[in-house]
Amino acid sequence: MTKTDDLQLEFRRTFASYLEGFLPFEYENKTYRLINSYIASPWRRCDVCGNYPIKYVSVIRSSDGRELHVGNKCLDQMTNREASKWLRRFWTKLDNVTRNRKYIDGLNSLLTAFRNREFEFQITREDAEKLQKTLARMSRGLNPTRKQQQLADLYMKKMLK
Ligand SMILES: [Zn+2]
Repeated sequence: MTKTDDLQLEFRRTFASYLEGFLPFEYENKTYRLINSYIASPWRRCDVCGNYPIKYVSVIRSSDGRELHVGNKCLDQMTNREASKWLRRFWTKLDNVTRNRKYIDGLNSLLTAFRNREFEFQITREDAEKLQKTLARMSRGLNPTRKQQQLADLYMKKMLK
């Protein structure tokens, strides 16, 4: 398992506990629970309002087993809370982690090598700290700044030589 795999797993766990902790809500005199959420590909139509296309889809299930796939607007209205905000932020972060895989795994190997003094090239302590910060930032699901990315590129190129 790479560092990115670990992070993705962690994000999935956070997601599972979010769903678990999501309080049931009433819709059309039935009790519903939020049971899943996903990014639609291809895009879907909202089962409640018919809106198309929706990208972020939430799956809700009633106590008698009826399942609906709904968009953000409907989810927020039905639950009377800003659920979609959390979900959208979650999916963005997870997506960033996945897209930054090259950097996350690259910097992780680089910094591990640095700690174990397995270097064939020079790295200053100051740069190592900067790279550590970059890795921590990406691990939280944020994108690196341009400067951070440039420094990471520089060292990752050296590492591949
Ligand atoms: Zn809708």
